Amino acid sequence: MYDICIIGAGIIGCFLARDLSRYRLSVLLLEKDADVANGATMANSAIIHAGDDPEDGTYKARFNVRGALMYRDLCRELGVAFLETSALVVATSPEEETTLMMRYERACRRNIPARILSRDEALEKEPNLSDLVTMAMELPTTGVICPWEIAIALAEEAVMNGTDLRLESPVTGIVRLPDTDIFRITTPGGIYETRSVINCAGVYADRIYAMVSQGDAPGFTVTPRRGEYYVIDKLREKTVNRVIYPVPSSVGKGILATPTVDGNLLIGPNALDIDDREGINTTAEGLSLVREKIGKTVRNVPFDKIIRQFAGLRAKGNGGDFLVEEAGDVKRFINAACIDSPGLSSAPAISEYIITEIVSRYFSLIEKEDFLHRRPTLRLDRMPSAEREELVRRDPTFAHMICRCEKITEGEILDVIHREVGARTVKGVKKRARPGMGRCQGGFCEPRVVEILARELGVAKTDIRYDDAESVLLTGETKADFDGGEAGV
Ligand SMILES: Cc1cc2nc3c(=O)[nH]c(=O)nc-3n(C[C@H](O)[C@H](O)[C@H](O)COP(=O)(O)OP(=O)(O)OC[C@H]3O[C@@H](n4cnc5c(N)ncnc54)[C@H](O)[C@@H]3O)c2cc1C
Repeated sequence: MYDICIIGAGIIGCFLARDLSRYRLSVLLLEKDADVANGATMANSAIIHAGDDPEDGTYKARFNVRGALMYRDLCRELGVAFLETSALVVATSPEEETTLMMRYERACRRNIPARILSRDEALEKEPNLSDLVTMAMELPTTGVICPWEIAIALAEEAVMNGTDLRLESPVTGIVRLPDTDIFRITTPGGIYETRSVINCAGVYADRIYAMVSQGDAPGFTVTPRRGEYYVIDKLREKTVNRVIYPVPSSVGKGILATPTVDGNLLIGPNALDIDDREGINTTAEGLSLVREKIGKTVRNVPFDKIIRQFAGLRAKGNGGDFLVEEAGDVKRFINAACIDSPGLSSAPAISEYIITEIVSRYFSLIEKEDFLHRRPTLRLDRMPSAEREELVRRDPTFAHMICRCEKITEGEILDVIHREVGARTVKGVKKRARPGMGRCQGGFCEPRVVEILARELGVAKTDIRYDDAESVLLTGETKADFDGGEAGV
């Protein structure tokens, strides 16, 4: 019996799990995938928006503004990267200049630092702005993070502080036991009972709610809205140094260029409503639109240096805004649903709101005295050189290069395997330590990562998966019984 069961270990579920683990509550976190942060949290622009974009009076505006203020300290506390890049929103026509001025006034009303720049002032900051750009608004507090790095860090702290995390546990049924406050939750691997549920299931949140909803129809629907991206290699000469947004339209913030915390450049996303909740494939049409539209705001994008393309699904709710509330028809069932953009920026504030305004109605929030903080992962590229040299002297695995593109050593990979919520798959290692994120996309390092995982987990190499149970990498040895043939070699 748990006090609270959180369904979905994306950024929202992970913030909730970690924040709830501060209190004397028993918490279960159920995730359908083989790792945390495999949904929208893994495929987005990674921007902590300043908060000028959402409409007045929405949850999006409220949580984005508050969340953006919280991130800097949170990232320091969790030992994860936060790059305070700043941003330019750029106008390319008199109509867009008018919209931009309205945005500027809105930013000022929300106490978000902002400044209007002439074309020349903007060009001084970003020489690769297109010839069409006439005016810009600078948002100095905009930053970028690595979304899965922070979600994994949150999950680690949650587990260190008593949260029960069950991966590969898709929720297939929820019933409220008659005349009780107890929910019974079914997964293929087990049945759990809990006094309260928080639904953070991303593009599946409407289906989860439909399992318990008392009405004839679920109270909301989620449509997957796909966004596709190009990832550009790390280059000595940066195309842009900060986030470059076009003036937003009714379908979103538009196609932007943004540096990542690890030095790549992201170009995207488009926005297309689709039916497939697993539709994270990229398309020729989507990507050519991205390529065409970015030219309006940024020039000299090195499209010959693309190393990857990917897509993510926004969980677009039918109401337009986030849905963060206790269900009217099912007490103690809380929806954190329809969390599309700016869900990442808003996540800490959504968690704070749910705990202080909703969970507190049913549970006493008594803080634990011995809350444990995680140790940051060992990243040589983020260490001062003296510390790095000392580490290599102490442990030679930190001198054994596994990923040549990203310069990731065996020691760094061992560190991410042997932690709370440690990596169990090739993708899990890639998300935590970055081998395979570089130019060769794992061509060189992937077999070595498989070997290390098999050795450290004590399983056969054929048991190591890329990600979920179906993503088999190796089916057996070739030439296992080869005797050298006639030549005897
Ligand atoms: C293209 C794109 C660009 C974006 N850019 C930004 C940005 O720059 N800044 C920003 O602030 N926001 C951005 N967002 C929005 C942000 O990424 C999301 O709002 C946020 O990641 C949502 O987090 P989540 O935890 O709600 O959902 P998810 O990360 O999708 O997590 C939901 C989890 O629930 C699990 N789940 C589903 N069904 C079940 C089940 N039956 N049982 C158990 N588990 C289940 C899933 O496997 C998944 O892990 C962007 C989104 C996209 C797609």
